[in-house]
Amino acid sequence: MTRPDPRLALVADCSSCAGLCCEVPQFQASADFAIDKPGRTPCPHLGADFGCTIHAELPQRGFPGCVVYDCFGSGQQVVAVQFAGADHADPGVRAAMFDAFEVVERLHELLWYVADASARALPRGLADEVGGLEATVLASRDAPAGVEVTSLQARTGALLDEVSSHLRRGLGARDLRDADLAGRDLREEDLYAARLRGAVLIGADLRGADLGPADLLGADLRAADLRGADLSETFCLTRFQVRAARTDATTVLPDVLR
Ligand code: SF4
Repeated sequence: MTRPDPRLALVADCSSCAGLCCEVPQFQASADFAIDKPGRTPCPHLGADFGCTIHAELPQRGFPGCVVYDCFGSGQQVVAVQFAGADHADPGVRAAMFDAFEVVERLHELLWYVADASARALPRGLADEVGGLEATVLASRDAPAGVEVTSLQARTGALLDEVSSHLRRGLGARDLRDADLAGRDLREEDLYAARLRGAVLIGADLRGADLGPADLLGADLRAADLRGADLSETFCLTRFQVRAARTDATTVLPDVLR
């Protein structure tokens, strides 16, 4: 029996959270966020019920970064699971929640990628490595104090690279890692199974592209035109990337992101 895709659990449930993403991160005024906000300070638009008071007009008010943000379900994991029943209003509790959120958010992002790898058909040894890493990240998530996230990120990055190479092997795919393709018309380019890890695709025209198992880890897809593109088999695609891109009903996404 196949197990349910673990990524289905990595979805934000803001009703079970306490607005952690509106308080913990630091922001500088930019195209994504209209104001400077120090870390661990509530956004001025955070309501008393932890809802966003300008949610319906975030882009118009200069906060498009909030629209595309994804916590991978780490907010409710901290508030409703790890601090179940704790008093959010207690400053000591809140500080401990913030500490946990800073770690769990990064671990849930890793879990998203590792779950993508674990859903692929891999040789036994590689599949076992992925399973071992998934167990380690989950255990770290459940006891986040003192976790060395940076070393887990490095281990995950190396293993994802191996999985990516396996998925794209023999397909003659192009290596466009970290390529600057911003604003380019890529409709006639063969990007099937391309290595696009870290590529800058801001505003690129990818209409109708068939990306196959292209590696999109960390690719910047802001305002990239994905109408008619097939991303159903892509590797390491996130909600954040999809929300930041231009899509419509003709964009074919992986099942978990539909
Ligand atoms: S941290 Fe996640 S669950 Fe909490 S309010 Fe932000 S998006 Fe919602």
